[in-house]
Amino acid sequence: MPELPEVESIKRYLIAQNIPDSTIHRVEIGWSDSIAAPAADIETFANRVSRKRIATIKRRGKYIVSTLSDQQDTQSHLVLHMGMTGSLHVRNPSDPPVKYRRAAIYLDDNRRIELNDYRRWAKLWALDDPKDAYPKLGPEPWDLTPDEFANRLRTRRSRIKPALLDQSIIAGVGNIYADESLHQTGISPLRRANRISTQRLTRLHANIMDTLNHAIQFISTHPSQDGSPYVVDAYDDRMRITRIPNSPCPTCHQPIKNTKIAGRTAYHCPTCQH
Ligand SMILES: [Zn+2]
Repeated sequence: MPELPEVESIKRYLIAQNIPDSTIHRVEIGWSDSIAAPAADIETFANRVSRKRIATIKRRGKYIVSTLSDQQDTQSHLVLHMGMTGSLHVRNPSDPPVKYRRAAIYLDDNRRIELNDYRRWAKLWALDDPKDAYPKLGPEPWDLTPDEFANRLRTRRSRIKPALLDQSIIAGVGNIYADESLHQTGISPLRRANRISTQRLTRLHANIMDTLNHAIQFISTHPSQDGSPYVVDAYDDRMRITRIPNSPCPTCHQPIKNTKIAGRTAYHCPTCQH
């Protein structure tokens, strides 16, 4: 699943392609389930975003938020979530369509932004207030002080791993990056959040930001052939932990264990993580 670093990379790619300041000429939606309420039919959605200028493109958690403005300078928003397999590609008129094209946003400069999505779980919203797409989303790790981060977790009785994945507590930490950050801090994913010292939670906060920044850096220096962001792969060398049971821990070389916690597989080292 595209996680925060992949989504951040897509955002930076769109900005590098000078998408802000372009005007949306029209949209084509090939899969009506891609669009979410309130503009849940293709025509309403197309009317809400067409002939609007893309003023800014930002990221919030795993969402791409584009502020649109019309000729009267009234603002609205186009919000995108990449689902399990979504990615965005800027295409020139002579470029063929992407393989699993679910939507195309045609721009007034004749380019188009295509949503490639094999699994069809990506979503698009046309909204006045972008928060309606993610009403319960918590703050980003970068927007929290170490103390605020620790405060959000130390009252939780759940295990630390599902607490990190709870997007209402902190936005944007996915399965793989939670495992990486916990390993780096030496905290077991099975430990209850309220049993971890503030000092260790503070270190975890720094390591989450480090892990995410490292991944953003890796993705931005490994573009795919057409220049669009690197496709997510949990097994590449941006990760310290090899996500294969019994592979050696990068620190102590003892076998890495995989454990199901709240429905998600955690890879961790029983020797290094407590
Ligand atoms: Zn170890």
